[in-house]
Amino acid sequence: MKVGLIIPAGGQGKRMGHDRPKQYLELKGQPILWHTLKVFQESASIDSIVLAVSQNDVAEIREQYQNDFAKIHQVTAGGKERQDSVYNGFLALSPDVELVMVHDAVRPFVDATMIAEVVKSAERTGGAIVAIPLSDTLKRADAEGKVAETIPRDKLWRVQTPQVFRRDIFAEAYEKAIADGFYGTDEASLVERLGIKIAIAQGSAFNIKITHPEDLILGQAILQHSLSGNDQAVQ
Ligand code: C5P
Repeated sequence: MKVGLIIPAGGQGKRMGHDRPKQYLELKGQPILWHTLKVFQESASIDSIVLAVSQNDVAEIREQYQNDFAKIHQVTAGGKERQDSVYNGFLALSPDVELVMVHDAVRPFVDATMIAEVVKSAERTGGAIVAIPLSDTLKRADAEGKVAETIPRDKLWRVQTPQVFRRDIFAEAYEKAIADGFYGTDEASLVERLGIKIAIAQGSAFNIKITHPEDLILGQAILQHSLSGNDQAVQ
């Protein structure tokens, strides 16, 4: 099946505390977005890519990346929330796309095996996401910030991207979310509202979302580790 990837890259990255959005901060001399694009350009599982960036950046990003990354089908304007950016990207997908993948611009350490696995799973089931089991103990706090209860973690997962869905399922999930005014923090939460069971594929502890300043330090270390040819996923 033809796989079209949407990369939402239209955020302002306020939690990072920089004047530039986090997807444009550099790791080893290249923007984080560049590292993310490189993985998908080189992945045999991906056919075409749509980038959703801030309206003001569309022309510049098109100019900067379209020559280097031949799979880029379109660079489009993002929206107010991440979910709006993803939907704008969806509207710009190539007509031949059958499976829709979404991956955060700020997760540059996704790897080819993870991409292939989640695509294979979505081909079989209609929808799949990558996630890792929780390793920390989880507690709920009360209104005073004191421990109210311990939550059993045996069935809990930390969800990452990529997330992949059949195109018709994705379209229906977004249409319903728009009709209901529903906003979720990932695509799966929209698809779950259709009553569809989504498969889980193995993610990686390396597949971090660069969000806070300390994530850049981790990012440097992960990149160094993979450049030294030691790219076994830590799970
Ligand atoms: O803010 P958060 O960490 O959830 O952002 C995840 C991804 O969504 C980032 O790649 C960011 O650029 C993107 N995003 C977007 N449009 C927005 C907000 C976030 O494309 N309005």
